[in-house]
Amino acid sequence: MNVASTPRRDLEESAPPLAIQHLASGAVTNVLSIDVEEWFQAEVYARAIQRERWPTIPSRVAASTERLLETLDHARVRATFFVLGIVAERLPNLVREIAAAGHEIGSHGWGHRPIWSLNRDAFFEDVSRARRILQELSGQPVLGYRAPTFSITSRTLWATNELRRAGYAYDSSIFPTLHDRYGIPDAPKAIHQLEGGLWEIPPSVLQLGPLHVPVAGGGYFRLYPLLLTRAAIRFLNQRLARPAVVYVHPWEFDEDQPRPRISRLSQLRHTVGIGVNEHKLQQLLMEFRFASCEEALTYAGAALSA
Ligand SMILES: [Zn+2]
Repeated sequence: MNVASTPRRDLEESAPPLAIQHLASGAVTNVLSIDVEEWFQAEVYARAIQRERWPTIPSRVAASTERLLETLDHARVRATFFVLGIVAERLPNLVREIAAAGHEIGSHGWGHRPIWSLNRDAFFEDVSRARRILQELSGQPVLGYRAPTFSITSRTLWATNELRRAGYAYDSSIFPTLHDRYGIPDAPKAIHQLEGGLWEIPPSVLQLGPLHVPVAGGGYFRLYPLLLTRAAIRFLNQRLARPAVVYVHPWEFDEDQPRPRISRLSQLRHTVGIGVNEHKLQQLLMEFRFASCEEALTYAGAALSA
C-alpha cells in the first residue's frame, strides 16, 4: 500500500496539505516523534521498579499525552506517536484519541524489552503483537517502529529484517552515536533505506570533531538550553538540508511524577529540564516546521509499503 495515498484528516480543513506548504516554502520539515510510555517504564528504573509491578502502578501517561496533544493542536503540527503495546492495552481510548487528532500512530513494541534481551522469534512476536493492537485501535496502517532504548545496534541489526517481516516500512531506532547503552557511531545520519527495504529515520546528531553529539531528543533535548537546540536545528536544516528528528516522551513533561530513589546520575538523566520542557517545545514548534515520520519519508521520496 502506498502511504502517500492514505487519506488523512488535516488538522484544519482550510490549511493546505503539509506537503504543499513544504514545497511552497522550500523549508526543511523536521520530524516530531513521541514515545508513549509510562514514567516507570523508562530504562533508568529497570532495576528499581520490576516490570511485574507495572500493572499495579497508577497510570500517568494519558494526562501528559493529552497535554501534548493540546500543544500540537495549538501549533497545528502533526507528529508520530510511537505507542507501547502494553500502554495501548491498558488505555485503548488514548490511542483512539491520538489517531482522531490526526497524528500518525507508530509502534514502540509490546513490552518495552530492549532488543538485545530478546531472540529473533520473541522480537518478531513483540513487534507483531504491538502492530496488531495499534492498527485495530487506530484504524490506521502502522508502518513505523521505535525500539525501546534505541536498542538496534550492530549486535541486533537482524531486527530490521524482522521488522520488515512483521509489516513495518520504516524504523527510527538506529542512533548514529556512541552511548553507554545504544548507538552505531558510523551509521548514516540522514534518512536512508536499509538493505532489505526498511527505511531508517535516525535520531539527530551533529558531528563535532570526532564526536557525534545527539542534539534533539530525550535527555539531550531537556538538558540543552533552548538557544543551543535552536542553533542545532537551524544548522541541520540550513547547512545540511536535513530534518531534525526530535523525540520526546510524555513523562518528560510531567513535573509531578513520583521520584523513587535511584542513583544521582540516573535521576538527573531522567528529570533534568522537565519544568521548562513544555515551553521549549512550544517555542520550537512556532519557529520551525514539524511533521510526522511518515510525512518526512514522503518528502525524502520514500515509497512506503507494508
Ligand atoms: Zn521507551
